[in-house]
Formats: sequence, C-alpha cells, structure tokens
Amino acid sequence: MTDKVNVFWFRRDLRLDDNLGFFKALHGKYPVLPIFIFDSEILNELPKDDARVTFIFNTLQKMRDALQEKGSSLAMYQGKPLDIYKQLIKDFDVQNVITNHDYEVYAQDRDEEIKTFLAQKDIDFYTFKDQVIFEKNEVVKDNGDPYVVYTPYKNKWKAAFNEDKHLKIHYTSQHLDALIEHSRLPNLSLSDIGFTKSSIEVPSYDVRPTLIQEYENTRNFPAVDGTSHLGPHLRFGTVSVRKMMRKAISEKNETFMNELIWREFFMQILWHFPKTQHNAFRSKYDRITWRNNEEEFEKWKKGETGYLLVDAGMRELNKTGYMHNRVRMLVASFLCKHLLIDWRWGEAYFAEKLLDYEQSSNVGNWQWAAGSGVDAAPYFRIFNPITQVDKFDKDKTYIRKWIPEFETDKYPNKMVDHKEARERCLKVYKEALAS
Ligand SMILES: Cc1cc2nc3c(=O)[nH]c(=O)nc-3n(C[C@H](O)[C@H](O)[C@H](O)COP(=O)(O)OP(=O)(O)OC[C@H]3O[C@@H](n4cnc5c(N)ncnc54)[C@H](O)[C@@H]3O)c2cc1C
Repeated sequence: MTDKVNVFWFRRDLRLDDNLGFFKALHGKYPVLPIFIFDSEILNELPKDDARVTFIFNTLQKMRDALQEKGSSLAMYQGKPLDIYKQLIKDFDVQNVITNHDYEVYAQDRDEEIKTFLAQKDIDFYTFKDQVIFEKNEVVKDNGDPYVVYTPYKNKWKAAFNEDKHLKIHYTSQHLDALIEHSRLPNLSLSDIGFTKSSIEVPSYDVRPTLIQEYENTRNFPAVDGTSHLGPHLRFGTVSVRKMMRKAISEKNETFMNELIWREFFMQILWHFPKTQHNAFRSKYDRITWRNNEEEFEKWKKGETGYLLVDAGMRELNKTGYMHNRVRMLVASFLCKHLLIDWRWGEAYFAEKLLDYEQSSNVGNWQWAAGSGVDAAPYFRIFNPITQVDKFDKDKTYIRKWIPEFETDKYPNKMVDHKEARERCLKVYKEALAS
C-alpha cells in the first residue's frame, strides 16, 4: 500500500484546465491520483469502431502525456466502476474520491452505488458542478416548480446569472505538483478495451469572433459552415462551458448564448423528469398508434426517402456523425409525422450515430419534433420537406454535396406523398389525443 491519496475521477470533463472538480482535488490535503474508467456497461452497447470511443481514447492519451511531463500520469481502467473501486482501494490508500456531477439517469444510479460503497470504507465521495452554469433546480419558478417552457426558463436563467461569479475560470497549471509522482500508472490501448480506430474524426470547434458575430445570419443554412461544432466538445468536456459562455458574452451574441442555455434547459428537464428518457412528457402522446414500418425506417436511415433535404441530412449523419440542426429538425419531423415511426426509434438511431449525442438534448429535441415534449411544436405544424429546401438550401449546394446521384434516375422516388402523409398524421394524432 502506498501513501494516502485522493482520487480524481475524470468522466465527461476530459480537460485539465478550468475543470472545477479537478481544481478542487488539486487543492486537497493529499496527492491526487487521476483516473478514468472505460465503463463496460456503456462500452458493451457500442459498435466496435465507435468514433466517440476513439475520440475519448485519443483525448485521454494527450492528457496522460501532459501529466507525464509533470512526473505524474493518468491511470486508465476498464470494467464496472464498482469493481474498479474495489481493486483501487486495495492498491492505494484512498482518502477521498472527487469528481464532477453527471446528471444522466444511469450516471446518477452508478454514482449512488459508488458513494455507498466508499462510505462503508470511510471514504468520502465529493462531486462538483462543472458541465453547466446552472444545474438541477437552480433555475426554477418562484414556487419551486421546474420550468417546462424555454423562454421563461431562459429569462430566469439570465436574471440569476452573474458573470464574475458563474464564469470564474479555475486555472490548474500552477497546481499540478499536487498530483502523485508516478509516471507508470496503468494504461490501456484501444484494442485492450475491444475497440478499433474509427475512420470518423471529431472536428475541432470554431468559436472565432467572426463566426459568433455572424451566427444568426448563417446558422440556419446547412451549406454554410456557420455553427461552432461545439457539440462533442461540450459532451465530453474537452472544452469548458464557462469559457464558451464568456465567448458568447464578449462577442455580444445573444442568440449563441441562448443556444447554450437550450442545452441547460433540456438537462434540467431530464433531471426533473427522468421518465422522459423513455416516455412522452405529455403522456397523451404515448397513445399514438405508430405505424413503425421497418422497411420505411431502413430507407430513412440510409437517406433513401426521395426527399432531398431529408436524405442529404441522413447521409451526412451516416458519413460524419454530424448533422446540421436545421436538417435534424426536418428528418426528425419526417420520421415521426410523415412516416409515423415512434420518436424513440429515431432517438436511438441518433444516439448510435451522433458524435455530440447527449441524452437530454437528444430526447428533448426528438420529443419536440414529435410534439410530445416540453415546449414542443404543436402537432399540426408539420414541416414541408419540399419547401424547406427552398428556405434553407435554395441553390441545393448541401444536397449536391451529400447526394451525388441527385438529378439522375438512380435517385429514389418519394416514398410517401407529402399531402397524403400529412393528412394521415393529423388523423392519427387527433385520434390519440382525443381519446
Ligand atoms: C432531433 C434532434 C436531435 C438532437 N440531438 C442532439 C444531441 O444528441 N446532442 C446535442 O448536443 N444536440 C442535439 N441537438 C441540438 C442541435 O442540433 C445540436 O446541438 C447542434 O446542431 C450541434 O452543432 P453545433 O455544436 O455546431 O451547434 P451550434 O449551433 O454552434 O450551438 C452551440 C451549442 O449550443 C447547444 N445547442 C444548440 N442548439 C441546441 C438545441 N436545440 N438543443 C440543445 N442544445 C443546443 C449545443 O451544445 C451546441 O453545441 C438535436 C437537435 C435535434 C432537432
């Protein structure tokens, strides 16, 4: 058994700087042992060349290298977190475990289990708010109820927000000597955890002043690279949300700031209403008789519906792990409304493919598209997949990029007639909601 240590557990906060939990750990009484666990419960569900696993793995290797330059390292493990902790407390004299909050339902259960186990061994488990500005029930109505409509939530969020207090940066580089001196902590390769390198790379994010200043003029057009690509970086914490909020403020871009607030809105919704991960927020919508035709689902997945913007979006997703937000709204609406396929099927497909997959945002936006969620579009507002092209990809630049056979007879015919599908949808929704 070595000397006493505090463990810092990296999860979805994969950066060394402005990481609140890590900062707190470095200011503790004992040397810090940084660890990461490839959780087999999560990994077992993923394809073996999952791009997100490659991204996590590469990021961890860079962090490990950076810490090794300081004479320390990052210990990597694979397995069930509880089993890892059982072993860890045999290998090290662990005094405290420190980590950042994780709000997803699975994560909360996992943390509760670890906390209980550690408590039996007289080890404290401390967690900090790091991935959002406001969490859980920090922004609620005056009577304590959660907001389920975005605009009043956003207004209260802004009223409670104080730049000096909430965007304080926690620099760690001066404090890395608080890490344990040990450059040979356990390492893993991608193949050790049963994965191979993905051909899809997570693109870097772009928050140059010009992009943020121009954001509202360009963000709706998928052919223009006018959004930040922050999604996966906020998801895995390779960037600090405080720094990004600072960018929005320094460039005085309210719209960009509001998008970051949408992320927190959906996070607090999932935290207050965990049932929405599987069930409609408005329970009447669980009565919809979905058609759930598997062949039609396959066509949607492959981008072979015969509707150009829908198909371009699905092909972009399949090839890159990304889809522009405008197009996400359209493909989601098309699946639920034109094809009457359960939003949960679409949500699961996005979860498998999106580099920026975030349960709260994915469920929240899918339920928005299906009409069943908080602040959702009324069910009778159905995107027209033809006029959406005129509005958002008028000269078909985006479509041409993803559908090379466009304008040839190889491109499939429309799988449903827009008008008929629209009427069918209205009928089915009306019946479900009336009963
Ligand atoms: C059906 C559907 C599913 C979606 N699934 C996800 C998901 O799994 N993960 C995810 O992060 N976003 C999801 N979104 C929201 C949005 O499409 C992405 O956040 C955005 O396209 C990511 O690109 P970006 O980083 O360039 O965004 P930007 O436009 O540059 O926005 C900056 C950041 O603001 C946040 N943001 C922007 N729009 C939204 C929104 N509508 N809801 C929540 N946060 C938002 C994201 O963190 C985003 O990275 C989904 C949208 C739809 C319609």
